[in-house]
Amino acid sequence: MTSFMIDEAVNKKTHLKWTSDDNCPFCGIIANKRSSFTVFETDMVIAFLDILPIRPGHTLVVPKIHCPNLSDLPADYSRAVGEALSTIANAITGATQHNDLNVVCNQGYGQAVPHVHFHIVPAPRFGDTPAPSTTTTGPMDHEAMVRSEYHRRTELDDDAGKDMANKIKSRL
Ligand code: AMP
Ligand code: ZN
Repeated sequence: MTSFMIDEAVNKKTHLKWTSDDNCPFCGIIANKRSSFTVFETDMVIAFLDILPIRPGHTLVVPKIHCPNLSDLPADYSRAVGEALSTIANAITGATQHNDLNVVCNQGYGQAVPHVHFHIVPAPRFGDTPAPSTTTTGPMDHEAMVRSEYHRRTELDDDAGKDMANKIKSRL
């Protein structure tokens, strides 16, 4: 086998030659053309802070292949993402000192970026101060916590992003 044929065979088996889309923000981050607060990276997976966090620590875990739908993701990437999810979730619970999380992957419905990604979102805490735009005053009850999920998210501040990324990375 010539070397290019061997390369092709290897790539077919492992998908390591990832496909990319120039218009995709996550492919831009993977290719290092866009900045991000990256907390974790291997040859198959990258994880970075969400630019519009629902709560501090909101992280996206992303396979390094431009694949829009989770249901089409090659198995080797699924395995790599699955392993990364629990590792990163553990680091986030340590960084936020909070055990409760939501892990969500939107496919089509509710999906803004057509490149598979899992959101790891620290849960709200009983007793959190409600966001300024809510009509609720005082500590949040369960209903107010759920309502607060839909309030306007604000862009990740640079210092807060650096600080949170360092906290997560130091636990990996
Ligand atoms: P979804 O609606 O599931 O597709 O979520 C896409 C997520 O990607 C949203 O939470 C966005 O805030 C986030 N996002 C979009 N562009 C970037 C970016 N350049 N860096 C970090 N997060 C991003
Ligand atoms: Zn992409």
